[in-house]
Amino acid sequence: MIQPKNIENLFRKYITEYVQCQICKRQNTELVKDEKMRLWTLQCRDCLCKRTVPTIKGSEKKYEDYEKELAENANS
Ligand SMILES: [Zn+2]
Repeated sequence: MIQPKNIENLFRKYITEYVQCQICKRQNTELVKDEKMRLWTLQCRDCLCKRTVPTIKGSEKKYEDYEKELAENANS
């Protein structure tokens, strides 16, 4: 069983990865999908910086999978 605290931590990671701008630290951002490149770009409406984010495999993606991916990325 997942503890509420763990969910909160994972949710924070999700926010940092997919919502928060890494430059100005605000969350006034927009996720845009590049259909050609099959990439997601996070664009900040405040400082207008852009960065690509890891592919989102459907909105119902499980937090456990996300955690696993983070671990794999850290190892590679
Ligand atoms: Zn920004």
